[in-house]
Amino acid sequence: MEYLTNFQDSGYTIDVLHLFRGVKHDVVRKALATCPVMHIAAGKTVSEVLRRGGNLYILLRGELGVLADQHAEPDEGSGFNVLPGECFGEMSVFDEQVGSPLITAKKDSDVLVIDAARLWQIIEEINGVARNLLHLLSFRIQAANARLRQRRKVGRFYQQMSMLDGLTGLYNRAWLNENLPLLIGNAGAAVRPLSVVMIDLDHFKQFNDQNGHLAGDSALKTAALVFCEALRPTDFAVRYGGEEFTVILPGTDQKTGMMVANRLCSRMREAIVFDDMRVPLPHVTGSFGVAALRSGQDADALMGSADEALYRAKQAGRNCVSA
Ligand code: GH3
Ligand code: MG
Ligand code: MG
Repeated sequence: MEYLTNFQDSGYTIDVLHLFRGVKHDVVRKALATCPVMHIAAGKTVSEVLRRGGNLYILLRGELGVLADQHAEPDEGSGFNVLPGECFGEMSVFDEQVGSPLITAKKDSDVLVIDAARLWQIIEEINGVARNLLHLLSFRIQAANARLRQRRKVGRFYQQMSMLDGLTGLYNRAWLNENLPLLIGNAGAAVRPLSVVMIDLDHFKQFNDQNGHLAGDSALKTAALVFCEALRPTDFAVRYGGEEFTVILPGTDQKTGMMVANRLCSRMREAIVFDDMRVPLPHVTGSFGVAALRSGQDADALMGSADEALYRAKQAGRNCVSA
């Protein structure tokens, strides 16, 4: 920033300065008389290292882009545009933090600089300025809150997305790791049964080799659809990984779990898989292992039991259910 003149000699009037709206102009003019007016040429970027106590800046002419914290990521919302009459930097005066905003002139700009001591003096002497500053701070807080809300919303969206499998839309392993212990805890507390079914599609490597990977993907999507359609809204279907799925059945004992798994197995066997050309592909079958929660079992132990049951289903010739 290069020094141009002081406010008294600058020729600028205070009518357009938001901070002094409704305030007796002659009193303000006197207080501001010796404050410097600085110039920033269009396209120039200046990094102001603010002293403790800071400065308040008021744009008199031009347009500025201000990055309040130059170490923040550009999408962190600390950047804003300043138009004539608007001010910035007031937070550095109030919280006495040492800041280093990055100021870029989008047009040839003149800036009035009011140092902290002068601003406090003006606030004490002129009530209207204090009122206007309160309005400004309330606006800044609302804007910051809106940014936080937006960021939280985006965060929640990505968190939910990170719990879903991209191909099938089912929950993924991360979801299972987080939620199965909770579901087991709920079942224990309510003394209610809970069953899980581990599913592994049969000879799926061969299916891929014979029909191609895209057809394999279609088969995985078909399997997901079959499971979703055959389950109750209170059940959960998870893509455990690769061609392996897990179904969680809250409130379901071993006998009913076996019944559900048999239903899934026969629906899978009958499901028609299409590839992109809508040509039916060979049927895909699955092997199903069922385990009901035993007292004292944690998520790993329960999944281990279901995995052993699945192994038995594979040993029994696949396309079947085992406990
Ligand atoms: P088994 O009946 O013993 O389970 O035999 P399998 O061939 O199904 O088992 P294996 O573990 O040998 O092979 C699993 C195959 O699943 C290999 C892999 O290419 C395929 N697969 C895993 N994830 C995907 C996927 O996302 N898309 C496709 N198309 N194939 C997948
Ligand atoms: Mg497998
Ligand atoms: Mg398999």
